[in-house]
Amino acid sequence: IARNQGETEFHQAVKEVVESLMPFIEENPEYKFSKVLERMTEPERVIMFRVSWIDDKGEIQINRGYRIEMNSAIGPYKGGLRFHPTVNLGILKFLAFEQSFKNSLTTLPMGGGKGGSDFDPKGKSDNEVMRFCQSFMTELQRHIGPNTDVPAGDIGVGGREIGYMFGQYKRIRNEFSGILTGKGLEWGGSLIRPEATGYGAVYFANEMMQTRNDSIKGKTVAISGSGNVAQYSVEKIIEMGGKVVTLSDSNGTIYDPDGIDEEKLQYVMELKNIRRGRISEYAEKYSVSYLEGQRPWSIECDIALPCATQNEIDVDDARTLVKNGCYVISEGANMPSTPEAVEVFLESKILYGPGKAANAGGVAVSGLEMTQNALHLTWSREEVDAKLQVIMKNIHETCVKYGKDETGFVNYVVGANIGGFIKIANSMIAQGYV
Ligand code: NDP
Repeated sequence: IARNQGETEFHQAVKEVVESLMPFIEENPEYKFSKVLERMTEPERVIMFRVSWIDDKGEIQINRGYRIEMNSAIGPYKGGLRFHPTVNLGILKFLAFEQSFKNSLTTLPMGGGKGGSDFDPKGKSDNEVMRFCQSFMTELQRHIGPNTDVPAGDIGVGGREIGYMFGQYKRIRNEFSGILTGKGLEWGGSLIRPEATGYGAVYFANEMMQTRNDSIKGKTVAISGSGNVAQYSVEKIIEMGGKVVTLSDSNGTIYDPDGIDEEKLQYVMELKNIRRGRISEYAEKYSVSYLEGQRPWSIECDIALPCATQNEIDVDDARTLVKNGCYVISEGANMPSTPEAVEVFLESKILYGPGKAANAGGVAVSGLEMTQNALHLTWSREEVDAKLQVIMKNIHETCVKYGKDETGFVNYVVGANIGGFIKIANSMIAQGYV
């Protein structure tokens, strides 16, 4: 704690992992003597840098850029870039730490990393975003590479930003290579990558439900956020016969009791990805309620998919969800539930899938994008989707293997933490005290 002062979210993420891993480590002393968990909490490398750029008024703006290279025991660092004004060292370290476990769970050879900037893309012109991305990549290019570190998108970083950054890398290095994932289809991207996190979170919910002979068909679903992960979660829920009744952004929530159908989803995609508007416009267009300043968790649902940001479900939200009959939580976002909220879910014995397992589909398909780039070929939509489904199924099985208690209840938090830990820990021990 002394070494990582003020890094609240990092402490939160580490504490959860340490608490759930301690009994396992006590039973397996080789992990204790090698101090492997202690080593895993210290990033291999942290890069922080100035990003100056010129806005449309000709004024110089200054932001801070980061890349946390957390753990490379099982493969090159891999994890998204987040552009959001709340970004700081502690948030990126929590994300990089979680990412290491998540990547291990996918079974693909990817280490853990995360990065980004406190730059706020909201309200910026395309040209401003491009100049920022170019300046950001001018420094980042020194530290990444197809066998070293391969960033992807996250909050505030989608296809547009990946494109500007890829272009700048190529310009500086005179090299066309897979240094980022989430690329456009025409220039090295993979089919299903934009969809993967949302689809994966729904596949994971479905896997959990199948353990109780249940399915998504006919269920009411509350989703938070309205960005990449939220949009494709809606798409997959519709396809599997469920009804999504909420979406949100940082200003509020829309509640559509009739459900968001394909046409309404197209409207949301156009609104958020092209016009970059606010979700409140949905309420005006379809004459439904808008809950200003509120999150979706007071709305009755069977399934909740938090797909916005960290700590967006607090203990009161968790109690309300459970009281209203919600019995499946599959986290599209990273650490969206506070520790007290997780306690409520586990005590209630509902199906609770933590982000590092439930949202691993995105990085899994990023791993498949890296493979396609390395092989210089492109797999079809069906091939990638089939691989994604197998990976989500395997992650679920790993969670069950390590998380099932004597009563038959599956604690997916314990399962994901142990399942993710073993491969990294064994690799670190094999590679010496590094
Ligand atoms: P986007 O930027 O596409 O969308 C983020 C959404 O969440 C927006 O609707 C945004 O609203 C809302 N949001 C962001 N910050 C806050 C906040 N502080 N309070 C309330 N709402 C907020 O990001 P993604 O969909 O890519 O990411 C969403 C979550 O999923 C994140 O936790 C991310 O780490 C996680 N994730 C993403 C993956 C991916 O492949 N993209 C992979 C695995 C996890 P607004 O427009 O108002 O900011």
